[in-house]
Amino acid sequence: MDAPTCASVEANVHKVHAQIAQACAACGRTADSVQLLCVSKTKGEDLIKAAYDAGERHFGESYISEAVDKIQALKAQGFNDIVWHFIGPIQSNKTKHIAAHFDVVESVERRKILERLSAQRPDDLPPLKVMLQVNISDEEQKQGCEIEELPELLTLASSLPKLELIGLMGVARIDATAEELLAQFGTLKALQERYRGEFPGLAVLSMGMTHDLPQAIAAGSTEVRIGTAIFGERDYSKMHAQ
Ligand SMILES: *Cc1c(COP(=O)(O)O)cnc(C)c1O
Repeated sequence: MDAPTCASVEANVHKVHAQIAQACAACGRTADSVQLLCVSKTKGEDLIKAAYDAGERHFGESYISEAVDKIQALKAQGFNDIVWHFIGPIQSNKTKHIAAHFDVVESVERRKILERLSAQRPDDLPPLKVMLQVNISDEEQKQGCEIEELPELLTLASSLPKLELIGLMGVARIDATAEELLAQFGTLKALQERYRGEFPGLAVLSMGMTHDLPQAIAAGSTEVRIGTAIFGERDYSKMHAQ
């Protein structure tokens, strides 16, 4: 794939919206029932601005120091209405930066991280929106909490003062067949339905990436996290150690 340019990012944003609309139409949903999160990890400010100019306001990042640099640079240039989502693995020594710089964190999977994020959220900011990441892929190098841990984490997330519980996030297996994708995403949808009565905030279902967007939408996703289809393939070689 050629290196992405600002013009190609703009065209890609339109293509992804067309894919979302098509996937929604195929299962009788309206295109505005799915939020596009542009995953800009490893990508520079210029490409983020190109997606912004194409109308996007939700951006996802996975590496904290890279993300904070970009968030601060863009805020200094007046880009104050971007909603920043943290979607990467969270070590406890990084929670302070997530609490200070992000609007949404999607990848929370343990109690200690919830407690630290609430305690470290600055008082002048609104509560940090939180999603719990659930392991739906049955993989050994799993990320996300186990299904049995979910009730306890939901109870804690909804009780901490500086957090606002808004949904669930899941990543399907990279090598899953279309049928397995539907089953894995269906598991997350069923969990949302099971717990939404008790936790009415649980409105967002963040599932679906570049390669599995149609299956995620068919299974009920309300937010797709798309990197490659918008910004091209990622080159990790230029990144500093995090
Ligand atoms: C990188 C990443 C994405 C985007 O993946 P693409 O395949 O590039 O669309 C989505 N979700 C998470 C959790 C990621 O880390």
